[in-house]
Amino acid sequence: MQKNLMRPKSMHKVPFLDIKKIHSEFQEDINKSVSDVVNSGNYLLNKELFKFEDSYADYENVNEVIGVGSGLDALKIILLSLKINKGDEIIVPAHTFIATWLAVSNIGAIPIPIEPDANTFNIDVNLIESAVTSKTKAIIVVNLYGQVADLEPIRKICDNHNLFLVEDGAQSHGAKYKDIHTSSISDAVATSFYPGKNLGCMGDGGAILTNNNLLASEARRIRNYGSEKKYEHLVLGLNSRLDELQASILNVKLKHLKEMNRKRSEIADFYNTNLLNSNLVKPNKLNFVDHVWHLYVIRSRNRDKLMQRLLEVGIQTIIHYPIPPHLQKCYEYLNLKNFKITERICSEILSLPLYPNMPEEDYYYVTEMVNKFSNN
Ligand SMILES: *Cc1c(COP(=O)(O)O)cnc(C)c1O
Repeated sequence: MQKNLMRPKSMHKVPFLDIKKIHSEFQEDINKSVSDVVNSGNYLLNKELFKFEDSYADYENVNEVIGVGSGLDALKIILLSLKINKGDEIIVPAHTFIATWLAVSNIGAIPIPIEPDANTFNIDVNLIESAVTSKTKAIIVVNLYGQVADLEPIRKICDNHNLFLVEDGAQSHGAKYKDIHTSSISDAVATSFYPGKNLGCMGDGGAILTNNNLLASEARRIRNYGSEKKYEHLVLGLNSRLDELQASILNVKLKHLKEMNRKRSEIADFYNTNLLNSNLVKPNKLNFVDHVWHLYVIRSRNRDKLMQRLLEVGIQTIIHYPIPPHLQKCYEYLNLKNFKITERICSEILSLPLYPNMPEEDYYYVTEMVNKFSNN
């Protein structure tokens, strides 16, 4: 049902995201858990991390969760655990945050980008198979903006060509595919707890989720100097561990994740119902996947003007992402051209403010202003 839009009298300021406001709801619990860690004298690989790994594994219905230093490291450690080598080809979405590509390049492998489906923003399944070569070892799918990619046909392609399926779930905490947790379809999921994510800590953090016990034990070694027993090093590892302070914050916030995702989807529903201007393209959700609304991304041919006018009335919006990886200076050496869908999407997308306890009057105001300014 459509609610009446009410316009605040004075100019209203709407931040894109208010992390302090999100934390205000459980500030006391966070303060207590942080001070308990400070007083415990244990800061790494200890009980807060192990508790978080267990509870998050329960939440995502997966056998193993391995807490690491960041989302980028999670992807990288998965690729290393799968023995991806220098020169191997890894299929990635052309339209994604750069970390998806960097994980591949960081270990000397080659990212092979695939254009997105312009409706879902996720990798176009129909374009994958023709990009597979004898050097291809894995496909990394991204559940972009919180919507799960179409995993089943991609899993089939992987099985047909003997490829690993790795999922970049940095934007999709708690999301399912056809009511199944995605970690039972892919070989491993990488996620991030960067502060702005649906489940965020207060610094850098990430995790690997997998039902493959061998992959899990290799990843546990790699995150800790390649070691199982102190000062005995089995493989060339890294130092990438989710620390006790971050884990203790995540232990508090995990209890609220379901409710936070529910509120996100309530606001997304409001935008879906009340954004009425025909010059806008609203986000498209496939009916058999979850969307946890990490971002609410619209498309407009007059995106830059719309963004500017919204800013003039106090509404902060962001573009995710303004320059695609293939056009970044750091990827000049790959000499990638002709990613027209990605480039077009990047010129039209705009992420509207959305976070769990965003005030109702704020999203009413955003809706009214977006409708008003989309006309020209
Ligand atoms: C945030 C993000 C990452 C990287 O996570 P970090 O913890 O910042 O390293 C990777 N992929 C996607 C899609 C992301 O949104």
